[in-house]
Amino acid sequence: MIGNDITYAAELLKSGKTVAIPTETVYGLAANGFDEDAVINIFEIKQRPRFNPLILHIGNWEMLETISNQVPEVLLSLAKAFWPGPLTILVPKTEAVHDIITAGSPLVAVRMPNHPLTLSLLQQLPFPLAAPSANTFGTISPTNAQHVENQLGSALDYILDGGECAIGVESTIAKVNEFGRVVILRPGGISAGEMEKVIGYQPESVSAEHPTEAPGMLKSHYAPKIPLVIGNLNQLCEEHHNKAIGIISLQHQFSHPAIIHQEILTEDGDLHLAARNLFAALRRLETSGAEIILGELVPDNGIGIAINDRLTRASA
Ligand code: AMP
Ligand code: MG
Repeated sequence: MIGNDITYAAELLKSGKTVAIPTETVYGLAANGFDEDAVINIFEIKQRPRFNPLILHIGNWEMLETISNQVPEVLLSLAKAFWPGPLTILVPKTEAVHDIITAGSPLVAVRMPNHPLTLSLLQQLPFPLAAPSANTFGTISPTNAQHVENQLGSALDYILDGGECAIGVESTIAKVNEFGRVVILRPGGISAGEMEKVIGYQPESVSAEHPTEAPGMLKSHYAPKIPLVIGNLNQLCEEHHNKAIGIISLQHQFSHPAIIHQEILTEDGDLHLAARNLFAALRRLETSGAEIILGELVPDNGIGIAINDRLTRASA
């Protein structure tokens, strides 16, 4: 069932049920983050491997203290600057956090999402919400309630409808490395340039060292059901002229007799708008009748880095 009844959603969550929730990044599949059985349901509904840790979502700063009592100063300053918002920090966990949440890691991922419905829902709950994206593992993330309903509706008690996601790509995940420097494990809604304004340097992007850090970073992820190839669109159209082609482009219209569907992410090159449209465009392409999707990378700056990261993994 889809609706916007926060009180009902809170009741379900308090009784250990799984509810889909809107955030500014993508829709989440949420359950009581302190209840192991409730969390196991998330893994089952998503068919998500257990080595893939979950982000805990909080609605106030007191909850952060329950989850971690050793938040590095520099991560706290980033959280203060960007929460509620699309930044996830990895911090040492307390006993309150079960190993299933962190896949055995001593670090737990936390963020305060910036969506009015979900923030007030969180503020009614005495626990954080564990929530990965509300889609089956490895597929395209949902950016509206209907996307969730189409894929997981029959497995869920309730989908809290908060409209279209304003950011449209997942959160940036940051931690401190062994030298106390902030590093980015997954590019997302907050760019390295925005973080620099708070910490005085551009955090470097690092690849995950440990499988628990990898999932949103698996080489193949966010994948549509038909092949996606990234490159120069004119050349790719020539190479694939004998197939029904779907195009995903940043800004320009392409014409070729084999093109049967085209998605233009933004009319004016605005990368924030492109991010907001990305996953819905990939979903439309999936069902457009195209046999192959051809796409191009966008300028590699700001949120464009996150868009390119998702496109590259979707094409792997
Ligand atoms: P999502 O799929 O957007 O819910 O993002 C969850 C991702 O956050 C995981 O796939 C991991 O890459 C990362 N993550 C969550 N918790 C941890 C953790 N404790 N340690 C390292 N990475 C984590
Ligand atoms: Mg996901």
